[in-house]
Amino acid sequence: MAFNLVMFGPPGAGKGTQASRLAVELGIPQISTGDILREAVQTGTELGLQAKAIMDSGELVSDQVVVGIIRERLAEKDSATGFILDGFPRTVSQAAELDVILQGRDTLVVIELSVPDEELVNRLSKRLVCVGCGSIVGLQPDASNATSLTCSTCGGELAQRSDDREDVVRERLRVYHQQTSPLVEFYRLRPSFLSLDGNQPLDLVTDAVREAVDTAIGVTG
Ligand code: AMP
Repeated sequence: MAFNLVMFGPPGAGKGTQASRLAVELGIPQISTGDILREAVQTGTELGLQAKAIMDSGELVSDQVVVGIIRERLAEKDSATGFILDGFPRTVSQAAELDVILQGRDTLVVIELSVPDEELVNRLSKRLVCVGCGSIVGLQPDASNATSLTCSTCGGELAQRSDDREDVVRERLRVYHQQTSPLVEFYRLRPSFLSLDGNQPLDLVTDAVREAVDTAIGVTG
């Protein structure tokens, strides 16, 4: 049965990693507003120029801009048979807009990944990302060694994301608790909403996500 999936959770909870695993498994696109914005920053488009300072400070890009990005992206052909949203929605207003965009489409399964703040700060301070292919490399013993490390997938350079510095991470967490956690209340009563413990080994989280999707589809299908 076809379905669409939203993964949300604080920065570093593993939603990108889990979304990417599931997207490959299911053959559907993983749509990350963070990736789309970072690409715009890299190519220097008008959107990128506007978004860069906001992203570097750990704040959120405006609802209007990200909803526009998602509306266009979900109109593309490859998302017609299912997609995984990673990092969108991030506010209740974005979630309400998403419901409007998705009217008449397949069931929306929503999964929240929760992880304690201190674990997130610890994870993000060690997270490296490939500049070439975007692969996420977790848990390096010392992220300051980044320049000597290369990506095992494409050989590209691994670097720390500019917003993974501890001061920015703390601000991103503050923004998350203030603006994104109210999504739990927004989705809580839907039978296709599930909250999972993201503070476990990656493979266990992947199993739990698969199971959660099966349960949600079973309940609503
Ligand atoms: P992420 O890669 O998901 O951690 O996103 C990186 C940054 O992009 C965030 O800290 C925000 O500044 C911006 N961003 C990504 N998605 C959204 C969204 N749905 N709403 C607002 N800002 C976003």
